[in-house]
Amino acid sequence: MAMVEVRNLKKHFPVKRTFIDAMLGKPQLFVKAVDGVSFDIEEGEVLGLVGESGSGKTTTGRLILRLIEPTAGEVRIGGNDIFRMSKEELRRFRRHIQIIFQDPMAALNPYMRIGEAVKHPLEIHGIGSSEKERRKMVYEMLERVNLTPPDEFYRRYPKELSGGQRQRVVIARALITRPKFVVADEAVAMLDVSIRSQLLKLLADLKNEYNLTMLFITHDLATTKYLCDRIAVMYLGKIVEMGSFRHIYENPKHPYTRALISAVPEPDPKKKKKRYIPKGEVPNPINPPKGCRFHPRCDQVMQICSKKEPKLVEVEPGHQVTCFLYEE
Ligand code: SF4
Repeated sequence: MAMVEVRNLKKHFPVKRTFIDAMLGKPQLFVKAVDGVSFDIEEGEVLGLVGESGSGKTTTGRLILRLIEPTAGEVRIGGNDIFRMSKEELRRFRRHIQIIFQDPMAALNPYMRIGEAVKHPLEIHGIGSSEKERRKMVYEMLERVNLTPPDEFYRRYPKELSGGQRQRVVIARALITRPKFVVADEAVAMLDVSIRSQLLKLLADLKNEYNLTMLFITHDLATTKYLCDRIAVMYLGKIVEMGSFRHIYENPKHPYTRALISAVPEPDPKKKKKRYIPKGEVPNPINPPKGCRFHPRCDQVMQICSKKEPKLVEVEPGHQVTCFLYEE
């Protein structure tokens, strides 16, 4: 059994109607942010969820942790049905599911010392038999994320740290309860390139050390290289391609994935790479295109693409694509 099972997950946000719209009987519209997403994540595996802004990837992460309520679908973590839990069951279960947010400054209380912030989840969930033991756990965790000497960092406030150090605190706070599953939502997006690679390396080391199961959400496909075992590509609320890291990088099938791959910078300056940019803008998710949602931007569009929605098909073991180019 997979550690995380997501089935037909949907989130349709109602669009605010004006009083006049309601009086005129205009229909209620919905933003279909997530529209039937399914995947598994095995224990110890990192799945990269990649897509542009508006693809629904962040909403998917929040739904899985039940930070927002779904419109439909099922999520099981370690066999536990998240959406059927009572508030109290969910509160207790939260020690096993954690999130690393994009902006560490917003995620940390500016008036709370670093040590207190990292210790807080231990206190909430009653982990550790004494204050002394909890403090020791915090010191060890600060050391593990390279905030040393830990007693010095324990006493500091967020504003006294650099952006990279603050994100290390957020990682320490997320991992101190030894969660079963972590969502990292654009966890390195706000950092400078050099700091970003250090943090990705830290996450990769922690993944191996703690056998972490993680959903790594990013708009930047290049960052998945360091960390992800498999990748799912999202476009307008749906998964368009999913496979191992090698499938996606070496044998991308969906025209949208190919475009994303072509945008990843080539480290070897001698190798010339042709860049393919999909035409036009991402369509409005209130009224997504009929048929394949990518068809207005696709350079391989066929007649059928605007009429019918393609199904997810397996093109090789473990590699799935939603595109008529691969349907029998
Ligand atoms: Fe392009 Fe058609 Fe494939 Fe959609 S189904 S990605 S429009 S070829």
